[in-house]
Amino acid sequence: MTTIYLKPHKEESLKRFHPWVFSGAISRVVLDASHKASAPEEGEMVVVRSSANEVLGVGHWQVGSIAVRILAFGVERLEKTFWRERIAAAYRVRESIGLIRPDNNTFRLIHGEGDFLPGLIVDVYADTAVVQAHSVGMHVCRMEIAEAIIAEVEQVKAVYYKSDDTLPFKAPIEGEKTGWLINDQMVNDQMVNAQMANDEYWSEENGLSFRIDWLRGQKTGFFIDQRENRALVERYAKGKDVLNMFCYTGGFSLYALRGEARTVDSVDVSQKAIDLVNINVAHNFPDDPRHHAYAADAFDFLSEQREKGSTYDLIILDPPAFAKHRDAVKNALRGYQRINAKAIEMIRPGGILFTFSCSQAVDKEAFRLAVFSAAAQVGRKVRILHQLHQPQDHPINIYHPEGEYLKGLVLYVE
Ligand code: SAH
Repeated sequence: MTTIYLKPHKEESLKRFHPWVFSGAISRVVLDASHKASAPEEGEMVVVRSSANEVLGVGHWQVGSIAVRILAFGVERLEKTFWRERIAAAYRVRESIGLIRPDNNTFRLIHGEGDFLPGLIVDVYADTAVVQAHSVGMHVCRMEIAEAIIAEVEQVKAVYYKSDDTLPFKAPIEGEKTGWLINDQMVNDQMVNAQMANDEYWSEENGLSFRIDWLRGQKTGFFIDQRENRALVERYAKGKDVLNMFCYTGGFSLYALRGEARTVDSVDVSQKAIDLVNINVAHNFPDDPRHHAYAADAFDFLSEQREKGSTYDLIILDPPAFAKHRDAVKNALRGYQRINAKAIEMIRPGGILFTFSCSQAVDKEAFRLAVFSAAAQVGRKVRILHQLHQPQDHPINIYHPEGEYLKGLVLYVE
């Protein structure tokens, strides 16, 4: 195997189990004999050693400022049982915290660094696992990963791979980035489409049924990361007029309806998302006159409602990541301030705002400051009731605080 030697003292973060080797920490690369090129191949498994030749771990080579993502510390190669053991360990966590139940078969099984598998995401929807690779190394290992999931997670019968949007853009990739990896039941796209059309395919979250379209949907098909925050909306919804802005497939709306909201308006710019919201609401709350869905831009919708003099008791704002990179943070903060100011203006006295940011590059303090600026701009008296974050199946590796991305505030607006 190719060996990566670090500069003196650069082994310290790896010894504290931080899973990344930055390119600046490398003193030299000794390629194994099979190489024709002058550098390791992206996705190749490499050994990392300190300047004193101590073995630090093995991981996937990457092109960019993060040069290696470590899979196992203190060893020179992965055991044959590596993937099964890691998947089984992750599954045990979800089981022990009570996420796997007949009324909840939707959960994140692998959350990258948070489950000690940097570059890998696995979401489970009933009998299907959706795998997403964020590194070429994980792409190379996708079949072993799929087989380990089938072997270790009883409910999963088919594994779908969806890495079109997540693999590094310029990397040379062999094989398909999207498609079925395993489907023992001979599932294929047509069958899934037919099942969905026949109203057969549902995934359960806390006793609510969701149609999850991983073939065409955003990310792996659903935003599991808002499960606990949706449950909190249910607690506050009773008797309220609710606006679920950036609703996607209507997660927060279903919980608000179950929590006896008076009315629920769901808004998303994507017509496909709105179609799914309507399917989900009709399945869980047939012929319920309390719900309306609108395919519209958030800013336009809020401006129009304001002109009409509409107000709400409870608003949820869960926009897409406004900052995808560090250099976009300033603009993102302006965006958060703008949308929050518009929402706060429309909340009735004594109402509640659930507001979120899923931009990893925008930290808690910066987000809170943007929301504070919005409240001050509108001149309303605002108190923080809850500070929210990502749920327990999206764990943060304590040695890798960069894994924290979702944050939210629940505000009481006088
Ligand atoms: N709250 C959702 C997840 C939201 S993801 C849930 O619980 O599942 C963000 C959503 O914002 C996406 O569905 C995207 O289509 C939508 N979106 C992006 N830009 C928008 C805009 N300008 N106006 C309204 N919706 C927008």
